[in-house]
Amino acid sequence: MTKVFQATHVGKVRANNEDALIVIEPETFVVADGMGGASAGEVASQMLVDTVKNFLSKSPAPWDEKILSQAILLANDKILNRARLNPELRGMGTTATILSLDGGKAYFAHVGDSRLYLLRNKYFAQITEDHSYVETLVRQGEITHEEARIHPMKNVLIQAVGAVPEIEIDAANFSVQSGDIFLLCTDGLTNMVEDELIAKILLSASNPADALVDAALEAGGKDNVSVIVAGVD
Ligand code: CA
Repeated sequence: MTKVFQATHVGKVRANNEDALIVIEPETFVVADGMGGASAGEVASQMLVDTVKNFLSKSPAPWDEKILSQAILLANDKILNRARLNPELRGMGTTATILSLDGGKAYFAHVGDSRLYLLRNKYFAQITEDHSYVETLVRQGEITHEEARIHPMKNVLIQAVGAVPEIEIDAANFSVQSGDIFLLCTDGLTNMVEDELIAKILLSASNPADALVDAALEAGGKDNVSVIVAGVD
């Protein structure tokens, strides 16, 4: 049995919540962070989670990284097409981070700057890489992770679902261990709360999803914040 907690909040500054998240049985988790003018971001992130749910319901298990990637590609086509037909939605896009647990394996697929983390034996690591301009700078050694968190261009993505016809999806699998805690989150958490505090909350809170959202709000809540926490027995 996996213990699952989820929470989303509009934050303290924004008028709309452009994040979307979903828990799909069995043991599959999706977060999406939409972008675009007016309500376009909400449309894109909701289309992403709806498309993934629908696609997986028709796919045989295990929902491995290939199937998860196919679901993201399908969402990419659908979002692009909808934007083509609706000028007011043009330019919309969304991040997509999906984790599926099955038979002792973790499968994931990812586009954008939402994140998948793993807490294992008190070791807390980001599994996904951000597809963002500032992450490129970090990898090139031009700025530090700390500088990236407050960089004026931190919101600029180099990959987003529904923004361009060709996207590159990061996808892989690895073995799950008893006691693993997975966190999927949007950048409204990670831009507001340091990794060290996130790990501490995951280890100590009775409802870690609510506690992480509270921490983001206490730190200013400048963005929508969404989290899914899945703790493996
Ligand atoms: Ca965001």
